[in-house]
Amino acid sequence: MSDAPWYEAGLSFACTRCGNCCTGQPGEVRVSEAEAEALAAHLGVDLADFHERFTRHTPDGATSLTEKANFDCVFWSARDGCTVYALRPRQCRTWPFWRRNLASPTHWAEAARGCPGLGRGALHPAETIAELAADDGTSGIVPGAPG
Ligand code: SF4
Ligand code: SF4
Repeated sequence: MSDAPWYEAGLSFACTRCGNCCTGQPGEVRVSEAEAEALAAHLGVDLADFHERFTRHTPDGATSLTEKANFDCVFWSARDGCTVYALRPRQCRTWPFWRRNLASPTHWAEAARGCPGLGRGALHPAETIAELAADDGTSGIVPGAPG
């Protein structure tokens, strides 16, 4: 049996900047301490203040960016998009090549329902995809997989 992933031929993705993944629904945007330090410095606040204003703990003890009351990411602007784009967390940079989306073609198709960038634009090679997925910045939990 081949060890090649189901996406051996690569996957197409090009972001349309629609903002769906940054807005409108609850979710975790995990941020490492190094990323938090960089964001705090960029915003001109100390690290404790940054965490107080912009992050929360996840149930498993990690750190996530917070959301606004409408579930938009705390750093999303309707006018400007992501206001910390150059310093956005790794989880944001590696989308859609997350372990949970790559678990099967069905998981990929599910991700495509909320992201119009999947299936369009440049073909990303399987090797690049696998490298991104191995350190995707997420919890790595795959919905529907046995615990
Ligand atoms: S949902 Fe997809 S296409 Fe829209 S901004 Fe997010 S990554 Fe880009
Ligand atoms: S940090 Fe930026 S890219 Fe990441 S979810 Fe928030 S607004 Fe979107």
